[in-house]
Amino acid sequence: MKKILVTGGAGYIGSHTVVELAQAGFEPVIIDDFRNSKESVLSGLRDILGRDVPFHRIDCGDAEALRGVLRAEGNIEGVIHFAAFKAVGESVQKPLAYFRNNVGSLLTLLEVLPEFGVENLVFSSSCTVYGNPDALPVRETTPTKPASSPYGRTKQMCEDIIHDAAGAPGNRLHSILLRYFNPIGAHASARIGELPLGVPNNLIPFVTQTAAGLREKLTIFGNDYDTPDGTNIRDYIHVVDLAKAHIAAVQRLLDRTAPEVVETFNVGTGHGNTVLEVVQTFERATGQKVNYSIGPRRPGDVPAIYADATKVAEVLGFKTETSLADSLASAWKWQLSLAK
Ligand code: UDP
Repeated sequence: MKKILVTGGAGYIGSHTVVELAQAGFEPVIIDDFRNSKESVLSGLRDILGRDVPFHRIDCGDAEALRGVLRAEGNIEGVIHFAAFKAVGESVQKPLAYFRNNVGSLLTLLEVLPEFGVENLVFSSSCTVYGNPDALPVRETTPTKPASSPYGRTKQMCEDIIHDAAGAPGNRLHSILLRYFNPIGAHASARIGELPLGVPNNLIPFVTQTAAGLREKLTIFGNDYDTPDGTNIRDYIHVVDLAKAHIAAVQRLLDRTAPEVVETFNVGTGHGNTVLEVVQTFERATGQKVNYSIGPRRPGDVPAIYADATKVAEVLGFKTETSLADSLASAWKWQLSLAK
């Protein structure tokens, strides 16, 4: 079985990708330091897979610790690098922590991986690299605009760093950059899902916590945008679908079929939904009411963004399978499981 190192493998997208890797016949090896995840994720993974997933509690920005893991594991064939801070608002409050962690951990990986002959990297990027796009849907060739937050800037910088490192003499690393749209929902087993620490920043956990009575009401951040109902448009992709895109990316890297050493793919459904549509679809899919009111715009939000998902379909053979309603129903099932 081919070993794939998953940094941030106890996190939201990381844990779902670990499941898909294992079920596709890879051997995932997790590194995580639980700074933004919980140890209970490991038991959720055990329940789903029926065995323990190899795990190392380290900060992947710690070069010596990373070397220790690579030495101990031996023959790692590739790395999926999820480990990063991801809250837009927090990044405005603590920009240096974001640069140190997100850029620093990538630099460490890029320095250490060649020492161990690891030549394949999948990098978690984000549609935030597009900034506020001039035209929709966004394609991989759509020029990036200034990021609206330090978080977005770290993703732009990391993409640039990977390109520059790939161009250096003697480089052997091949990379795929996956630009995620908005991941939502949870594994069908409801044993893993999104675990926000404290008050959720993201829409869906806020919706499910409100429906569960844990929050009084959802505030919708603005209804005066130039969109059909005035609320923001995003491309919401089920997290298991998103996880599967990583398997296709790893396979492509291992097959060495790519014409370029760095490739970039949008990973979204190709469809946009407004915040109000999401709330209404949630209510229909679950039979739950969501108490909400309209509040002011949230700084840094772009009015609308959704993916052109043509390239990922044509090149990686990847298509999303889960509807918005089913994705939201899975998020609700996960929320209910948390209360138990
Ligand atoms: N949103 C909202 N209320 C909330 C959280 C989010 O109206 O409590 C909106 C937000 O303005 C955006 C969408 O939901 O239009 C998705 O936000 P999220 O933070 O989940 O993801 P982002 O698109 O910012 O990465």
